[in-house]
Amino acid sequence: MSRIDLHTHSTVSDGTDTPEELVAAAAAAGVRTLALTDHDSTGGWERAAAALPAGMRLVRGAEFSCDSPDGRGGLIPVHILGYLFDAGHPAVVAEQARLREERVRRLTRMAENIAADFPLDPAAMFGYVPEGATPGRPHLGRALIDAGVVGSMNEAFTRLLHNDSPYYVPKADTPVGTALRMIREAGGVAVFAHPLARTRGRVVEPSVIADLAGEGLAGVEVDHPDHSPGDRALLRGLAGDLGLIVTGASDYHGANKTTPLAAETTDPEQCEELLAKATGVEVICA
Ligand code: AMP
Ligand code: FE
Ligand code: FE
Ligand code: ZN
Repeated sequence: MSRIDLHTHSTVSDGTDTPEELVAAAAAAGVRTLALTDHDSTGGWERAAAALPAGMRLVRGAEFSCDSPDGRGGLIPVHILGYLFDAGHPAVVAEQARLREERVRRLTRMAENIAADFPLDPAAMFGYVPEGATPGRPHLGRALIDAGVVGSMNEAFTRLLHNDSPYYVPKADTPVGTALRMIREAGGVAVFAHPLARTRGRVVEPSVIADLAGEGLAGVEVDHPDHSPGDRALLRGLAGDLGLIVTGASDYHGANKTTPLAAETTDPEQCEELLAKATGVEVICA
């Protein structure tokens, strides 16, 4: 088995496996090429590299929180995966630091909103965010489970944390064009993460993907647990028309989601094409 999983999270963002546990679990799942893509952070890169099991390749990456035109005249939150960019690039460092601060502000307000109606200590929430990690809604979800407000992470999202919830507070994400430029200037390659994950809320019109392809987007994540068969077919056709690389990945979050590692994978040829485009940092081979 030589599986390729290009989208995973660790405790450096909202996953539950440490970077060390993640690479070990990936090896056990038959993954030979693994990308670590924590939200708005490269803080797990060194730890994952140091713990890399023999025979595994590590693709260093991150998932950038962005605002994108939706193709209907509005803006919506989207995620862009950046691979093999220079993590020391000043624009990347500054924007990731700003976003983590913005996330603290926003998550605090969401916790306060919920605490007005439910038995939750908003201050306790940050006890669920590991030191230095990017805070996200799943950390608040854990606090809500432990407080007995909800019975599961899925219930936390469907009842309280989803994008259209009255308790939801938006955050000021990076304009998607800025993120694409930043990733490229840092020598990286950009892939649109789960563009049609409709269960999470509104998604972009296909025309937006074409526009972003013109702004430096290199690929699109087609095989993702939140994509329907119909949407996968639509995206595959679009990628073919636009000359975009097609990826597939689990978006593994450990116990914070039910999807196992390598539940979805990337074709080896597509993967090599993607990696060959990067000039920022090398793939690490153990
Ligand atoms: P945030 O980054 O704070 O906006 O939170 C978004 C994160 O919440 C995503 O990256 C997912 O990890 C997680 N998420 C979104 N929807 C769900 C869901 N239905 N169940 C579990 N986790 C979810
Ligand atoms: Fe996440
Ligand atoms: Fe995402
Ligand atoms: Zn993700």
